[in-house]
Amino acid sequence: MTNSNIPTFNALSSSCPYIDDIFWLPSPEEMISIKKNKKTAKKVIKIASACLANIACKYNGTCSTRPALMTRRSDPSLFGKEFINLVCPEAFAGGLPTPREPCEGPINGKVVARSGKDYTEAFTIGAIGVVQLALAIGATEFIGRRGSPSCGVGAIHDGTFTGTLIPGDGILTALLKKYGINVRLL
Ligand code: SF4
Repeated sequence: MTNSNIPTFNALSSSCPYIDDIFWLPSPEEMISIKKNKKTAKKVIKIASACLANIACKYNGTCSTRPALMTRRSDPSLFGKEFINLVCPEAFAGGLPTPREPCEGPINGKVVARSGKDYTEAFTIGAIGVVQLALAIGATEFIGRRGSPSCGVGAIHDGTFTGTLIPGDGILTALLKKYGINVRLL
């Protein structure tokens, strides 16, 4: 995908019912990552939920490390062939603090905290930021997890804060699918 094919934020936001107009730029760290990836264009580029790779960005300040992902990221046989960029739509792109209020959904398009506060806009801004990054670096696959209102793949919490999962995707996962990026559960 060339730069000219990357949708603008206005185009991205028009596919999100919550946001009228969004302006976003990659952080300096993300720009470094983009430049590195462009030098290695022959690699398969993927993105993965950062909390799966030992980054303590979950709402409660912990992570959900998956040894398989850690091993894959450091596998010498994959150097030069695959690059997995870590993303957190809530903490990195959405700018929410860690720890933060636990949220569930999206239910009827809304992500709501246990306190009743509506976080849909912040979660959507974070998801759009990650989609913009994914398209810019040419990512073809997203590796996500169950239950997250952002990164949930195939299962989200039902909004009752009882640990109940229902079929569905997080806001980021749904948006990535719309832009043709494969999603995979880990
Ligand atoms: S938003 Fe995604 S990457 Fe960030 S903590 Fe939640 S599941 Fe992990």
